[in-house]
Amino acid sequence: MNFQSSITEIKGIGQKKAELLKKLNIETVADLINLYPRSYQDRRYITPISQLVPGNTYLVRAHIINIVNNKFSYGKKKTLKITADDGSGRMEAVFFNAGFMANAFTAGEEYLFYGRVNKGYANRLQMTHPEFSQAAKETLRGIIPVYPLTEGISQNEMRKWQRELNTYAENAEEFLPADIINRNNLCSYSYALSNIHFPKDEQKFKEARYRLVFDEMLQLQTGLLAIKKASSGKNNGIAFDKKIKTDDYIKSLPYPLTRAQQKAAGEIISDMESKNVMSRLVQGDVGSGKTAVAEIAMYKAVKCGFQTVLMAPTEILARQHFEGIKERFSAFGIRTGFLSGSVTKTQRETILEMIKTGSLDVIIGTHAIIQPDVKFKNLGLVITDEQHRFGVNHRMLLGQKGKNPDQIVMTATPIPRTLAVILYGDLDISVIDELPPGRQSITTKTVDETRRIDAYRFVKGQIEKGRQAYVVAPLIEDSDTINVRSAESVYDELHRFFSENTVALLHGEMKQKEKDDIMERFKNGKIDILVSTVVIEVGINVPNATVMVIENSERFGLAQLHQLRGRVGRGEHKSYCILINSSKSEIAAQRAEIMINTSDGFIIAEKDLELRGPGEFFGTRQHGVPDLKIANLVKHIDMLETVKKESLVILAEDPLLESEKYAGLKTKIIKTFNGNLNLKM
Ligand code: ADP
Ligand code: MG
Repeated sequence: MNFQSSITEIKGIGQKKAELLKKLNIETVADLINLYPRSYQDRRYITPISQLVPGNTYLVRAHIINIVNNKFSYGKKKTLKITADDGSGRMEAVFFNAGFMANAFTAGEEYLFYGRVNKGYANRLQMTHPEFSQAAKETLRGIIPVYPLTEGISQNEMRKWQRELNTYAENAEEFLPADIINRNNLCSYSYALSNIHFPKDEQKFKEARYRLVFDEMLQLQTGLLAIKKASSGKNNGIAFDKKIKTDDYIKSLPYPLTRAQQKAAGEIISDMESKNVMSRLVQGDVGSGKTAVAEIAMYKAVKCGFQTVLMAPTEILARQHFEGIKERFSAFGIRTGFLSGSVTKTQRETILEMIKTGSLDVIIGTHAIIQPDVKFKNLGLVITDEQHRFGVNHRMLLGQKGKNPDQIVMTATPIPRTLAVILYGDLDISVIDELPPGRQSITTKTVDETRRIDAYRFVKGQIEKGRQAYVVAPLIEDSDTINVRSAESVYDELHRFFSENTVALLHGEMKQKEKDDIMERFKNGKIDILVSTVVIEVGINVPNATVMVIENSERFGLAQLHQLRGRVGRGEHKSYCILINSSKSEIAAQRAEIMINTSDGFIIAEKDLELRGPGEFFGTRQHGVPDLKIANLVKHIDMLETVKKESLVILAEDPLLESEKYAGLKTKIIKTFNGNLNLKM
């Protein structure tokens, strides 16, 4: 057996367990060793029975003085009651349905028991179903890891496997060069792996954790910096004509720009007019008006004689942009085209031809735009909306469609500054930190299952006032069928409850035509309630909608909830968000609390990142940011500077990590990015 061996080679892991472990992305010995404990229990100290306080959890060492199998029950259902004495006092250990355990204990021998103490019959001290082992074995004692699990795998099984694998961990090969280890005072990789699972003391645990967090951040940072290096070519960009102004377009908008929009547009225009290649991130909360800013830049590019592209992550959003922008631009003689996966083959051929010959100025669409056969005549500006939904490489690919075109990426998921530094370290950032005037704050409430009817009644009231509502059901990962059914069942229920109103269902697996029709009818007020999956999460703009009901809100990330909530409160009417929380967990309550009290997307994003880590935070694996196993970008932010310096040193020495020295690190980086890293390295 080695690190690459299948886990089925481990004693006690057969096909069945292997299937279950796959859910935790564990297939090899290395994967299992890299499953780090979620927390630890300090069971180093043994407590005399005389000092036990009911309600607390202890490790006890005592001799068994009595074993009783309850005679009133039969077979496997028997209750097993053990009395143990450690010289200071007595306690009982009780096991229900434990006929099969009759031979687990031997009277007179000494055992370790670990569990919560309660008061039993006649005030006797009792542990119900404690963990136990023979005292000589001592496997219960020490700093004991607690692993993240999946159904069908027990904590004890996991601990047993990990304990067995510890000899492998202890022999893990070092992959970092000695100079990096020395400069940063790191412990060896083998030491780290062994001690992260079974640390002897706090000091060793801290050394181990530091090393592993450092590794992860180094892999993330070096990978991202390498991507950036490959994509930057600075001084040879387009200098858009200073004499071409955008005032006419700005005047044509139905509202004056906010101060924040003016500032962002100003920064963009001056970047465009310079010879440098613009790489600018426009960050602004939901509804802050990023689209208008993008339009101004596009207008400028077209009037200067260049083509421009706007790429959006979903078909619905791309179409919405297309319809609005086409209408506004046509007044200025600007020709706008649309491209997505749902465009028919013949249409597509025509559009590709028009893009190539320059008879379209503006192309709006989905990632269909980055297909290799899409060729531009003279692409000068590329804009990516909701950038966080795209992989890191998409931005690069889009940029390669022109000769160093200027680039804008926009995101309505406010990325916490910490993460922005890592993800977009090469970008200049414009922040739109102001909402257009007249926006009402959105009232957020949470209810549990029992009050769903109240929520529906509330929706009814709004509809009677002429408003519209969204009801969103969660998207269950990697099971589209289940997800569709659940949205459908919500739809069926609402259909009955709101029999006098028009209820429609929208989800990602519908035909494009169907989706378009429904969105169109919702926009025109012909549908009162739109039941949907998160396909409406980003960018959708229907100002008359005033209620957002989110089913199983505990299943969504905070940033995602904030996005969804941002679908309402876009017009003049008071708006509401109702979270139907079906979880009783503490975390779910905490998260709901944050949503109720916070409307600032930045704060929400920060909390979300802290609670869920960056992978989960973005809600999708497509974003190109790997999930971190142990590093936490909020908690370990202090380390970032050190790690970044180290990454820069590494890449300066060996930009493509070709040398033997960095071979190990390179392998790790590629694995970390799990195919998302399209480096020529
Ligand atoms: P986001 O930043 O979330 O992409 P949008 O660009 O979709 O926001 O804008 C949200 C809504 O606000 C749109 O209906 C848009 O027309 C409107 N809007 C944008 N800028 C202003 C402004 N300065 N004043 C009033 N309404 C505005
Ligand atoms: Mg938008």
